[in-house]
Amino acid sequence: MIKLDNFSSFFVANWKLNGNFKFIDQFITEISLPQDTTKCVVICPTTIHLDYMSKNKTKFYVGAQNVSQHKDGAFTGEISADSLSDLNVNFCIVGHSERRQFFFEKNEDINHKSENLIKKNIIPIVCVGETLEDKEKGITNGILEEQLKKSIPISSNFQNTIIAYEPVWAIGTGLTPTNKEINDTHSFIREHNSKFNKFKIIYGGSVKANNVNEITSLLNVDGALIGGASLKSDEFTKIIQD
Ligand code: PEP
Repeated sequence: MIKLDNFSSFFVANWKLNGNFKFIDQFITEISLPQDTTKCVVICPTTIHLDYMSKNKTKFYVGAQNVSQHKDGAFTGEISADSLSDLNVNFCIVGHSERRQFFFEKNEDINHKSENLIKKNIIPIVCVGETLEDKEKGITNGILEEQLKKSIPISSNFQNTIIAYEPVWAIGTGLTPTNKEINDTHSFIREHNSKFNKFKIIYGGSVKANNVNEITSLLNVDGALIGGASLKSDEFTKIIQD
């Protein structure tokens, strides 16, 4: 398993359902990785492109966007943690809000997925976040507490799991919480349960080249999860170089 302690910050590119071989070739030629090797750059292409990405990668890590909650068996079309491990995948996003919303993933599924990944030495990046309705009702912390309690398995610790705070209303919208809100929420995640004190907590939701620096330099923020802006090699280079 990758040693998370070796890194000062994490930049995770979530390509979602985008990219093909040609795109990958071009992206890899165009990006420039940071000189600072304590910055951990992870690119998560589609499952189909994981192997190609792993074989052609330079100084970044490869991550998956999802994994089955089942270890093996009669689950047609699913991809197991074991299969990801065969492809030398080091990280896997789990519980992204799009999976919770469109594929009806529950905290309990995310818990099983994370547990299976940890057993295969793959680091789960567990996503949690409130909807706009939750925020307006003032129940963000309660929502996060419940998501964390149920979706982080007992086997998780600061050395084998990353938490991603992604307010659902900030994903792909160009909206972000204020820097104070981000820092306070990360602080809540870290402090409300001593289990999470030393976890790496990254922020996701409309991170771009022009706001990454102010967000990732916040005391309680250990990096960023980037969607749309990670598909543009020049923008992503600026994000990881900042
Ligand atoms: C995401 O999908 O995880 C994400 C953060 O997207 P965006 O950066 O486009 O808001």
